[in-house]
Formats: sequence, structure tokens, C-alpha cells
Amino acid sequence: MSEEGALAPLAHQRGAYLRRLPAVDEVLRHLSAQPWGQQVPRQALTRAVRQVLARYRQAILQAREPAALEALSLSLEAIAQQVQALLGQAQAYRLQRLINATGVIVHTNLGRSLLAAEAVANLQRVARAYTNLEYDLEKGERGSRYVHVEESLKALTGAEAALVVNNNAAAVFLALQALAAGKEVIVSRGQLIEIGGSFRLPDIMRSSGAILREVGTTNKTHLRDYAQAINERTALLLRAHTSNYRIVGFTAEVSLPELVELAHAHNLPVMEDLGSGTLIDLRRYGLHHEPTVQEVVASGADLVTFSGDKLLGGPQAGILVGKAAYIETIRRHPLHRAVRVDKFTLAALEATLKLYADPEAACRQIPTLAMLTLPLPAIAQRVRRLRRRLPAAVQAAYRLRVIDGASAVGGGALPLEALPTKLVALQPSFCSVSELERRLRQHRPPIIARIAHDQVLLDLRTVQEHEIPEVAAALCALVPKP
Ligand SMILES: *Cc1c(COP(=O)(O)O)cnc(C)c1O
Repeated sequence: MSEEGALAPLAHQRGAYLRRLPAVDEVLRHLSAQPWGQQVPRQALTRAVRQVLARYRQAILQAREPAALEALSLSLEAIAQQVQALLGQAQAYRLQRLINATGVIVHTNLGRSLLAAEAVANLQRVARAYTNLEYDLEKGERGSRYVHVEESLKALTGAEAALVVNNNAAAVFLALQALAAGKEVIVSRGQLIEIGGSFRLPDIMRSSGAILREVGTTNKTHLRDYAQAINERTALLLRAHTSNYRIVGFTAEVSLPELVELAHAHNLPVMEDLGSGTLIDLRRYGLHHEPTVQEVVASGADLVTFSGDKLLGGPQAGILVGKAAYIETIRRHPLHRAVRVDKFTLAALEATLKLYADPEAACRQIPTLAMLTLPLPAIAQRVRRLRRRLPAAVQAAYRLRVIDGASAVGGGALPLEALPTKLVALQPSFCSVSELERRLRQHRPPIIARIAHDQVLLDLRTVQEHEIPEVAAALCALVPKP
């Protein structure tokens, strides 16, 4: 048979299917007779019906063979079901809770830090009521929104003054614009960083109006390199924390105290972009040394910037601490108004900072710190809790094994730190490894795992205690029933 001969009956069939498709009104009448259909606003219902019918039309027109047409069910029942599913999707939140089984603690794609219970409670208190956000209750007049966190930031870091903006990128940008627009900022070539989400230090500097003055080489920068670059146009010496990588081997970096001594001899400030910024000395928990904000302030840095939602474990924010005169110049800059923080951030940040008054308690109550300092036996305990909820047949279907592995800090903090962990390794007998990863991701709530060496790996370090039963239930549900 010629090709046309084969297609003609198909075109004919397509026409018949299109004619059988009910009219919008007919579907609406059918839906209005059902209790759930009566609860949906008429306009939304009509829109959904039109969308579903349009999908049917498209499927009919694109059918390449009779079987594709026969697979379409044109009954009012089937169409009603699709309308209901579509409305359900539209009502579900796009931004949704998920379970992080990747073992990456400060995972930027997954929303970085979880707030401490106290921070959530304070956020809720503040969100539902008027507050003294910018109102001085003593004097009965306009106040500053920053007083709520300023004192604790000063007390915790030892700095003279503090300011909080929308995020650390904004903090760096604002500081450069306020202190160095049209002037030169000296940076070591070993610190011209790019971090995730297109934060490139050279680009930030250019758009702030500061002129980048690179010194040294990728692996070595000496004090004399900085000294030779200083001139009458210099505004600032900048150090950036090489967050997500390390230059190792034949290297030299100028220490902060040396740089401060040089800068101050020329009446210039030193600014350090710490990135993650921790307030707790993590060596106590067997981690590598990450300079704390207090140490950097004590070493004489005039201005220090860091994130609120990385190692600090609070809400997204950019925190600036340092000498009062510089903080004041930044505070008065017009751009400051464009990157100011809202009351929710301040509420969550104030509560988070309060927890730092007792570092031991902070490590228990701030989820980021709790996950970071979680001892290996506690992770093994989580694995046992999960396995107790999995029948032997389910474990067998996944060929479940427990192996040693490493969690990552993430967020550009401690890039070389591999935190020892216990991983649940799955090699399902009923589907491929990538298919299992996909099904876990599409589960409600989604469970995000990683794949390595042809296994799906679950790291329970970043799975919260109360989520373990949910992970177990998902694993059970995904095994096909015999
Ligand atoms: C993360 C980071 C930033 C950006 O901070 P955000 O809070 O994400 O805006 C800037 N500099 C360094 C060194 C960082 O690690």
C-alpha cells in the first residue's frame, strides 16, 4: 500500500475522534454535578476544561497510528479525572519541602540552612503581628531596624559595629560601592574567586564601580606585591575567602595581620569577605580550622562580610561587621536601602544569634551545626532506625548495604572537609539505579539522593530524625507488589 493509502484512513479516524470530543459546556455540566466540581470557582474550572480538551486535540492530531488514537479515552469520566488532576497540580505549592539525603549540609540548591525551632517560632510571632521593627519603644519615636541584631553581633564578634543586608553578595557589593567606587581595590590573583550562582569577584567589583587592581600570581602573593600596588587611588585592600577550592602545593598568601599592618601604615582599610563565616571554632569537633569571624576581627580587619545562611545556620542574609566609621559610611549609602533586610529575616536572625550565647546549645539546636557535628555513631543509629522499618523482603529488593563514605559541608565552606559517614547503598533489582533516583525525586515529599559507582546512596546525616519514617515508607512503597 502506498504511504498515502495508509495515512488516509488515519486522517479520517483523527477527524472522527475530534468530532467525538465533548464540548466545553458538556464537560462543565458533568463536573457541576460532582461535589468537588461545585467547590472549584467557575472560571478556574472552565480554564482547566479548555486546557484538558486542548491536550486531547493535540494528542489526536499528533497520533501516528490507530493504536495511539485507541489508547485515548474520550469518556466524560476520563476527561473529568484529568481536569481534577490538573487543578490539583495548580493548587500544589511549587516551592515544597523535600528530604535531603545527599549528605551536603549547606546545599544551596536545596535552600541552605534549616532554621532552629526558636528562629521559626520567632518568625511566626513577628509575621502575625505589628512589631517595633523601626519604632523605639523607649522614646516613642522612629527607631532603627538594625538595633534588634546589632548588639548580639557586636558581642559575638567583638566588632565595633554591625549591619545586615539581603545576602553576602549584596554586602560585598554595597561595601565596595560605598568605600571604593571610582578607586582601586587591591586583590591577590589567588583570591579572584567565582562561587556558585555566578558570584564572580571581578564582576561584582566592576559593577560596584571599584577598579580591580590584581597583584601576585595564582599560587603566590607576597606582601611586597601589595606594597608596590598601593598608590593615591587605592581605597581598600580586599581579601576573599577561597571558599570552594584550595590552592595547594607551592603557595604563599599574606597573613591577615601582615596585610593589616601594611594597610594601616597607609591609612587604608582591609576588608575580608569570609563567605561562610562561622562563630564557632570547629576544631573542637574534629574539623579543619576555619577562621572564625571573631578571629578575623581580632586580627584587625576593618570590615568583615559573611552569609547568614551558610555555617551560621540562620536565614539568608549578608552580615557586615567592623569599624564603626566604615559601617556608618555603608549604612548611609543610598544603595543600602535597596538591599535592606525584611522583618522576617531579622526575626529569624535575632533568634539564631541568641542561641550562640551558649555554643554547646547552639551546636545542638541550630540544625546546620547539629548536622556538621553529628558523631558517626549517631549516624549509624539513624541507619539502624531506618532498617528496622524496612522488612527483609524490601531490603532484599534493594540489595541494601551500609557502606562507609563522606558527607560534605557545602556552601563553599571547608571545601576539603570530608565528614565520615555511613551510607545506605541501594542497587534495586526491579529498576535501574537512575530510575530509582528519579522515583525518589518524584516521590511526595521528594527525596534527593546521589548516585555513585552504580548505586543510589542515601546519607542520613542530612535527613532529620522525624523524616526517617518517611524515607522508610517511600522505600517500601516503591517496591513493586508481587
Ligand atoms: C557564599 C559566598 C558569597 C555569597 O554569599 P551569598 O550569601 O550567597 O550572597 C560571597 N563570597 C564568598 C567567599 C562566599 O563563599
